Amino acid sequence: MKVLITGGAGFIGSHLAERHLRRGDEVAVLDDLSTGDYNNIHHLESNARFNIKVGTILESETLRPLVEWCDTIYHLAAAVGVNYIIDNPLHSLTTNIRGTEIVLELANKDKKRVMLASTSEVYGKKNGKVSFQENDDRLLGPITVDRWIYSTTKAVDEMLGLSYWREKKLPMLIVRFFNVIGPRQTGDYGMVVPRMVKQALLGHPITVYGDGEQRRCFTDIEDALDGLVALAEHPDTPGEIFNLGGNVETNETSIVNLAHKVKSLTESDAPVEFVPYDKAFAKGSYEDLNYRVPDLSKIRSFVDYEPKMSLDNTLRRIINYFES
Ligand code: UDP
Repeated sequence: MKVLITGGAGFIGSHLAERHLRRGDEVAVLDDLSTGDYNNIHHLESNARFNIKVGTILESETLRPLVEWCDTIYHLAAAVGVNYIIDNPLHSLTTNIRGTEIVLELANKDKKRVMLASTSEVYGKKNGKVSFQENDDRLLGPITVDRWIYSTTKAVDEMLGLSYWREKKLPMLIVRFFNVIGPRQTGDYGMVVPRMVKQALLGHPITVYGDGEQRRCFTDIEDALDGLVALAEHPDTPGEIFNLGGNVETNETSIVNLAHKVKSLTESDAPVEFVPYDKAFAKGSYEDLNYRVPDLSKIRSFVDYEPKMSLDNTLRRIINYFES
């Protein structure tokens, strides 16, 4: 199979490229190296079935030959990370909306299958301890709070994708990732786990925003790839939306508990420090959400998906990665 991964030098994309290469597939990556990193895929360059093109999805001339070449597309290229989005609102809107439009338009010419990467962020900030289901209502804060740009762009992407499916029969599916973590993820653009691990290893304060009682369910990258590839290849998934997340029993935690876990696993002397939101982000640009865990019934009804990695095991791998 010939696989095109947009954003393939990023955290998820580079692991996905490895996974397909291991299976004997040919892999092409298109990445503008904005938040992606050449170091993530450098080791794949010696593989004759791997090819990297440095360029942007915003230029159809760059993208077209790759789309024509491939059998299937994983569209992962996007502006990501709360800090990155807040610092680069215009670029984020353009990359995420126009970029996806170009990918879908080109894919539609030869009806190439597209896996469109989306996010649990689209659900917004529902209150109460309820897991998110694919058809749930969305609840976002005001337009002026930049944090919601990411959610909004991904919602537009999803609507574009679904419209291409309904009106043009483009085989397209949507996967909503829930806080995927693993080696190679950087904390430079937000993302709490790599930030805390780095802080702990350097002996810097481990920063907990707000009161730390907000909760997330983290997903190991290898579990995420099991689900992602199975969905991308399943004959009945086009036109569908799927949550993809970790095991709630083993991987759901409060953020303050996460900080203490990281401190203990790294055997760090670093203090756990509470930082008010207004100090962590420009005033008015950020709003947190209290609780986010996935309902995994739908993915399980289509493919054999059972996330295996406990949060502690994933954290240990991430710590090893940063140490090395
Ligand atoms: N967070 C934190 N300290 C940090 C970075 C993030 O306490 O240094 C919190 C953040 O406010 C949120 C959670 O960790 O409640 C997860 O943040 P992240 O940006 O990783 O992902 P989100 O789930 O918010 O999209």
